[in-house]
Amino acid sequence: MDNLIRILRSFSKGKEDKRFIENVIELLRDKVMTNVENMYELGLKFQDTKVIFPPPWDSIYASLKEIGFFRRFVPAKYGGSGASEENIYFIMELLGYTCPSLGIIFVAHGRAVDIILAGRDEAIKDKYLSRLGEGDFGAIAMTEERAGTDVSAIEFSARPKGDYYIFSGEKIFISNAGLAGIYTILVNTKGKKGARSLSVFAVEDEIEGFKVELLPEKDGLKILPTGRLIYENCLIPRDNLIGEEGKGLFLALDAIDRGRILLAGISCGLACRVFDEIFKYSRKRIQFDHPLTSSQDISFKMSDMYTQINAARGLCFHALKQVNSPYYRIASSQAKLFATQMVMSVAQLGLMLMGGRGYFKNNIISMLGADARGMEYLEGTSSIQKMIISRELFKSYS
Ligand SMILES: Cc1cc2nc3c(=O)[nH]c(=O)nc-3n(C[C@H](O)[C@H](O)[C@H](O)COP(=O)(O)OP(=O)(O)OC[C@H]3O[C@@H](n4cnc5c(N)ncnc54)[C@H](O)[C@@H]3O)c2cc1C
Repeated sequence: MDNLIRILRSFSKGKEDKRFIENVIELLRDKVMTNVENMYELGLKFQDTKVIFPPPWDSIYASLKEIGFFRRFVPAKYGGSGASEENIYFIMELLGYTCPSLGIIFVAHGRAVDIILAGRDEAIKDKYLSRLGEGDFGAIAMTEERAGTDVSAIEFSARPKGDYYIFSGEKIFISNAGLAGIYTILVNTKGKKGARSLSVFAVEDEIEGFKVELLPEKDGLKILPTGRLIYENCLIPRDNLIGEEGKGLFLALDAIDRGRILLAGISCGLACRVFDEIFKYSRKRIQFDHPLTSSQDISFKMSDMYTQINAARGLCFHALKQVNSPYYRIASSQAKLFATQMVMSVAQLGLMLMGGRGYFKNNIISMLGADARGMEYLEGTSSIQKMIISRELFKSYS
C-alpha cells in the first residue's frame, strides 16, 4: 500500500487532508486489509430486511464513525465536515486497494447524499443529510427487471394520493440493500414510459409494506450487499419528493457522473493491488534458476500493466479537474470506461503470471479478478459509457 500512497500523494500535489487520510490509512491497514479475505470467505447473510456482515464489521463500522468518515460526504451546512473531490477520490483508491466492496458501499452512499443535496426542500435535506453524516448508509435504486441500461423504461409505480404517493414495484441489483437507512429511488409518477415521467424520492427503510431480498451469491464483491427492494402499497409522504416531479432522471444522472470517477478510482486502487501481489509473487517464483521478474517478457508485461494503471489515473485526475465544466460528463465516462477495462485486463494478466495456481479459487489474484469484473456493471456498463461519450462528443462538434 505504501507505493500507492506515494503515487497518490504525487498526483494530489500535497492537497490531501493529511490528518484524515492518515486515520483512514491506519484503519484500512489494521482492520480492513488484515480481515478482508476472511470476510469475503464468510460472506453476507440476511435477516428480515437487514443484512448481517461477518466480523469484524462492527468494529470497522465503529471506527469509520469515530474518524468522521460519514461526515466527509456531507457539507458542513447539514452537519457534515465536507471533503474535496480529490480527497474523496484519494480514499476511493485506498478502498479499491484494500476492499473494493467497501468502496462501492460508499460510492452508493455518496450518490444518495448528492441526490438529496440537489433537492429544494431544506427540511428534507436537514433531516436526511444529518442522518447520512452520522452513520446511516444511503443507496440509489434505479435498476428494474425490465429497465437496466434503458433507465427510461422504469415502471415502478408511484401514484399521488392526498399528501402521499403510493409506491408499488421492485428494484433489483441494489447496492446497500438491507444496509441503507435511506434509499433514493427513481420511480414513475406519470404512468407512461419515458424520461420525463420519472421522479426521485428519499425513502426510509422502516416503512410498512417494504421488504428486501438477498440475490443469489455474486462471483466477487462478496461483502457488497446487493439485493431486491420490494414495495407493496407503501405510503410515502409527498415531502419526500426530491426536486421537481418528472425531473428525477436528470438529478440521478448528475449524481452518477460523480460516482463514475469514484468507481474509476476504485478500479485504479484494485489494479495497483493486483500489481503489488503479482510483483511479490513473480520475484519469489523461480523458474529456469531465475525469478520470473528477470524474464524480459514478464518485466515488459509488468511495465505495460503499470503504464495502463497510471494512464487510467491520469484520466481520473483530468475528470476531477472538469467538475462544473461542460466536459464533466464526457470526462467521467471516459475515466470509468478506461479504468474498468484496464482493471479487467490487469487482473487477467495477473492470473496468467500466476501460472496454474491462478486457475484455483483460493488465491488473492482470483479474488481480486472477480472484484475487477464487477466494476464494469455499476453506474452503466462500458457500452453505456461509449454511448455517453459519443453523444456528448457529437453534440460538442455540431
Ligand atoms: C454488483 C452490482 C451492483 C449494482 N448496484 C446498483 C445500484 O446500487 N443501483 C442500481 O440502480 N443498479 C445497480 N446495479 C445494476 C447495474 O446498474 C445494471 O446491471 C446495469 O445498468 C446494466 O443493466 P442490466 O444488468 O439490466 O443489463 P442490460 O441492460 O440487459 O444490458 C445487457 C448488455 O447489453 C448491453 N446493451 C444494452 N443496451 C445496449 C445498446 N443499446 N447498445 C449496445 N449495448 C447495449 C449492456 O451494455 C450489457 O452489456 C448493480 C449491478 C451490479 C452487478
